[in-house]
Amino acid sequence: MASNTASAREISESSVQEAQEKEKVKHCFAEPWEDSDVILVVENEQFHVHRLILSMSSPVFKAMFKSQFKEAAADEIPLPGKKPNEVLDFLIKMYGPHHSKTELQITMENVEHLLLLSDEYQVTEQIFKPCVKFLDEEPKTKENVMKILALAELYNLEKVRQDCDDLLKGLSLKTLSDTVQFQNIDKDKLQYFLTQRIELLEGLLKEVYPQFIGLAECCMWLWDEEKKDMPDLCPTHYSNGKPTTNLVDRFKECDECRFVLDKIARYTAPQRRRGRYLEFSGTYATYYASRHRFDDDVSDIINKFSQIMTQLK
Ligand SMILES: [Zn+2]
Repeated sequence: MASNTASAREISESSVQEAQEKEKVKHCFAEPWEDSDVILVVENEQFHVHRLILSMSSPVFKAMFKSQFKEAAADEIPLPGKKPNEVLDFLIKMYGPHHSKTELQITMENVEHLLLLSDEYQVTEQIFKPCVKFLDEEPKTKENVMKILALAELYNLEKVRQDCDDLLKGLSLKTLSDTVQFQNIDKDKLQYFLTQRIELLEGLLKEVYPQFIGLAECCMWLWDEEKKDMPDLCPTHYSNGKPTTNLVDRFKECDECRFVLDKIARYTAPQRRRGRYLEFSGTYATYYASRHRFDDDVSDIINKFSQIMTQLK
């Protein structure tokens, strides 16, 4: 019952849509008007247009009307392989609001066929360039980025392509694979996006790593200065309170060096209970902010981090 109602609604919606579509095609080009002198025929739909206006906008139409080909004198010119609603958008845009009495905004829905037709008929200033400007200014989202990118590649729009790349390499792996799967991207392109993403992350790691190690080193120095319930800094690797080698090398080989940082981390970390952290009521409570940590996993992480970084040099 429910599905019958649904399909009945679908049918009525689609017939409404068809009627609207017909209405649209019946628009200003459906009948002869203002001395129109040629008819474009698209899938049995007629478009009454003016040789002069088409010639002024399009060198392709101009050549067609002036040529020795049969189109030059013909009253009807068939445009095979075109869609009536797309040609209508194209003509409305070409005539402009002054002639067609309709203002057509470029949207994500019509930009593809407007580009295609304006490229084919070389309607550069009136349609092609405004379409490029639209793609340039349209905010790129994970929903529209693949379509925009495909158009940017098709028409060699370098800046638009760059904006799409920037968005794609900023997406998480999960979002990227959802976006890419949704659009059925080929393997080469997927590999390109993944490479971009990895390059971005590796670049970030290279920036974060020295800061991260530097922070750990700084912690140890500060705590030693404060002499807060602190084991002495390792005598093998410190001289006058300063480390003699870098922290990563010390942490690889020296338990005593690791112990100092682990001790600081343990001291400031909230108590662990059943694998979760309890709220810490002291001075350090806020900097954990529920997901940020500094605890005795830190020396393990420094080791893993360092292993990754040796590959990145
Ligand atoms: Zn040491």
